[in-house]
Amino acid sequence: MTSVSTRSADVVVVGAGLAGLTAADQLSRAGHDVVVVEGRDRVGGRIHTVEVAGVPVDAGATWVAPGHTAVRDLARRFDCEFVAQSQPGKGVMSFGGKRKIESATSMAPWAMLDLTRIMGVLQKMVDGLPVSSPWEHHHAAHFDSMSLGEWLTLKHALKDTRKFMNVFSLVHWGAPVGEVSLFNVMRYIKNLGGIEHMLAVEGGDQQDRLLGTMHTLVSRLAGTLEDRLLLASPVEHITTAGERVTVETSNHTIDARYVIVTASPTHRSTIEFTPALPERHYGLSRSWRLGALSKAFVAYDRPFWRDEGLSGEGMSDDETAFLAFDVSPDAGGPGILMVFCDARGFDAYDEAERRRRVMRHLIHLYGAPARHAIDYTDFSWGNDSFAPGGPNPAVGPKTWTTFGPFLREPVGRVHWAGTETADETSGTMNGAILSGQRAATEVASRLDSGQ
Ligand SMILES: Cc1cc2nc3c(=O)[nH]c(=O)nc-3n(C[C@H](O)[C@H](O)[C@H](O)COP(=O)(O)OP(=O)(O)OC[C@H]3O[C@@H](n4cnc5c(N)ncnc54)[C@H](O)[C@@H]3O)c2cc1C
Repeated sequence: MTSVSTRSADVVVVGAGLAGLTAADQLSRAGHDVVVVEGRDRVGGRIHTVEVAGVPVDAGATWVAPGHTAVRDLARRFDCEFVAQSQPGKGVMSFGGKRKIESATSMAPWAMLDLTRIMGVLQKMVDGLPVSSPWEHHHAAHFDSMSLGEWLTLKHALKDTRKFMNVFSLVHWGAPVGEVSLFNVMRYIKNLGGIEHMLAVEGGDQQDRLLGTMHTLVSRLAGTLEDRLLLASPVEHITTAGERVTVETSNHTIDARYVIVTASPTHRSTIEFTPALPERHYGLSRSWRLGALSKAFVAYDRPFWRDEGLSGEGMSDDETAFLAFDVSPDAGGPGILMVFCDARGFDAYDEAERRRRVMRHLIHLYGAPARHAIDYTDFSWGNDSFAPGGPNPAVGPKTWTTFGPFLREPVGRVHWAGTETADETSGTMNGAILSGQRAATEVASRLDSGQ
């Protein structure tokens, strides 16, 4: 029989992603005793490093927008530097198997007009949505009654517009347009600063990445917790009795005054709560499913595409690989392409087949030199053994308007954080930090008032 360690704390934080580490850091610095309990054997959650050709690369979160000041402040505190994502050169597009170098005429004029029309209408609808409590909008029920795909059909979007919007949906929610509520899409667009901002590299969501990987930052933040961080310890039970709350894993029991759960809403349902959570909270976790996105990294001796004036950015409607970016550490090599893959055309295959599919696509985009890869690696978030899924919830119709108001409503001594609970920049690392700060402030004020 495994022995169970027991300890006590002011606050237990469940999850050592950016939200949990931030909440713990803020509370510890205010003098409160905090323990962080993480199910995985590593910190970072949806921030995770893998290696290709000996270079660490981000399998999860990568980019930081100019206005993501919470991440930037943290990076400054831990001496982490940013590098610009932008590469000089042209992108490559391939829809319907036709490869085109990006130019003013790479899309037919009518296709361009239609895409501009659809994005304009969507952005206008988004503009009217409030950042907080979006379900209070007078047309919320209507927007939440259909998927993005159904809305595109209603608006008679042309085939290429639909394909483009599908890429947009896959990369942000890890699900195709037919599986995501229009309202979910609108809420994210609003909170991330608009469609143009979400698509832009310079000045937008893809502007910078950390020198090295994001893991450097989270591991430095986690380092401040020392022995107050328990890894490989999935929380199984949370029991509230009177003024105490007990958090149990298979090998730890921690008695505390408050708990902050930062697991993504869908993973809250893996914890048994006593007394049971109100029905609306169970309904929320059952319906707030995460999408699934995968990334492949292909390394070459050097970034050969730059010789042809290409930036390494590639977009397509390929059933496996739909978006590529140059994440080479140095012009001298190795050259590394980061390729976003649609879980449905990727995750069920073995590594040889996944690699074959990605390579086939890169050869289509970048020609014969793309055959000569020196290394390959990939990571499927939908297949992760613990807390699978990401980047963001692919929330279906009627979910937001039914359960949205309870996303961060505390239940007794249980408080909630995680990027999904943030208003501004929800769905990003910045949102995760803001949510951790908000939950820490809520709990600190209850502790300070002697509750
Ligand atoms: C492929 C991909 C690309 C992305 N790209 C970007 C990007 O470029 N820029 C950006 O800003 N964001 C990006 N994101 C999103 C970003 O990673 C997240 O918004 C952010 O990291 C979420 O942090 P969090 O702490 O809220 O949640 P998480 O990181 O998910 O942390 C929650 C933690 O809780 C743990 N947990 C769950 N259940 C339990 C349990 N029962 N017991 C104990 N622990 C538990 C989990 O293991 C996890 O570590 C991307 C995500 C993915 C997957």
